[in-house]
Amino acid sequence: MHSSKDVQRMEKGHHQVLVIGAGNAGISLAARLKRYRVKGIAVVDPTEQHLYQPFFSHIAGGTAKAEMAVRPQESVMPKGVTWHRDSATAIDPSAKTVTLASGQTFTYEHLVVCPGIQKNWNGIPGLQDAYDSPYGATNYSLDLAVKAWRLLSGLRSGTAIFSMPDGPITCGGAAQKPMYLACDYWRSQGVLDNIRVILAVPTSSVYGVDVVDEELNRKITEYGIELRCSTELTSVDAEGRLATLRDTARGTEEQIRYDVLHAAPPQSAPDWIRSTGLADDDGFVAVDKHTLRHITHPTVWSLGDAAGTPNSKSGAALRQQTKVLAKNLQSVLKGNQPGQKYNGYGACPFTVSRSTVVLAEFDDTLAPKPSVPGWKGLAKEKRLTWLVERYGFIRLYWYAILKGRA
Ligand SMILES: Cc1cc2nc3c(=O)[nH]c(=O)nc-3n(C[C@H](O)[C@H](O)[C@H](O)COP(=O)(O)OP(=O)(O)OC[C@H]3O[C@@H](n4cnc5c(N)ncnc54)[C@H](O)[C@@H]3O)c2cc1C
Repeated sequence: MHSSKDVQRMEKGHHQVLVIGAGNAGISLAARLKRYRVKGIAVVDPTEQHLYQPFFSHIAGGTAKAEMAVRPQESVMPKGVTWHRDSATAIDPSAKTVTLASGQTFTYEHLVVCPGIQKNWNGIPGLQDAYDSPYGATNYSLDLAVKAWRLLSGLRSGTAIFSMPDGPITCGGAAQKPMYLACDYWRSQGVLDNIRVILAVPTSSVYGVDVVDEELNRKITEYGIELRCSTELTSVDAEGRLATLRDTARGTEEQIRYDVLHAAPPQSAPDWIRSTGLADDDGFVAVDKHTLRHITHPTVWSLGDAAGTPNSKSGAALRQQTKVLAKNLQSVLKGNQPGQKYNGYGACPFTVSRSTVVLAEFDDTLAPKPSVPGWKGLAKEKRLTWLVERYGFIRLYWYAILKGRA
């Protein structure tokens, strides 16, 4: 129960728990805290649409429609949670205040910072021009994912380049997924042999988890993909349709003419986090990787893509983090210590054909972490995993994860 003093403070813009970001992290956490009967929760987010980003790969690869990935934000906002339709622009963790773009300021008892990762569309010279041209796309935005399938499905011969940038990225494997879906499609159309497919990844192997690399390399050989490891897209001449790929191991560069460029944009922590005093060296929110509580400001927490934890940034990681953070915050609100620990789990389902998936499951050291302990079977190409990933996860997301129930 709140005292009349508490109620007065709320009216003035005070929240017991203020959450920045209503994405996968913010909504599932707010819903879970509501289930734990935490009062006075508010979420800040300016966007009217809630996006299920894992489906962007299916949209870019032609195995799902765009509308399946979108719902009105209002429809997923947990009942009883206040939604401020605005962007947070500043945090003062000492005064315990958050300022919004409108100039409004709120105070909080606990703050959860989860505004996701920033996509730097201009992060490679010429990249934005390529997206604006008729030949460039990516699954890292909904509009460009729709465009990607238009370009990939229309290609009958020529060169398609798929690239993943160096540095932090959400679901790094996602840069490859539409490629396998497109290759399977081209094969079914009898044109795969006419298309030169190049995959450029910054890592020294295709993904970095041994058991998964084996499966992906097998599919890469099967489709005849030219895999370039330790390779980055460094610039694009959109008019000339030329992509410059730099082999960082050899120190060489090559310009390749493309017919489709499918390039994941470079990503980073949101710029504004740096000025809050809450950031780590890379600009992400500096939280303890187990408790998800800030290392110097005990009333600040973070999870999801904006959190400075060493795990692979993914919805799969977030699902574990949400449970840990909600329990820990509930415990602290009751005057106890945070008792739950996140174990670094992350996962990435690779759609290696239009009916099979290789599920990568690993911890924050890239050691395999199968959900069935000791069984690496899910890391093998499987039809069952496709069915779960394509049809099961999206239902789980809308009906259980965003309700704080899974
Ligand atoms: C193409 C693609 C494929 C993916 N595939 C998979 C997959 O197969 N499996 C998997 O597990 N994960 C996958 N992911 C990753 C997964 O979608 C993310 O890890 C997850 O969405 C991160 O959740 P989040 O809440 O941290 O960020 P987001 O879901 O991105 O939400 C961030 C929210 O914060 C809001 N926001 C931003 N700035 C501010 C601000 N200043 N003030 C207020 N609000 C703000 C935004 O509007 C947004 O609503 C994929 C991601 C992409 C892009």
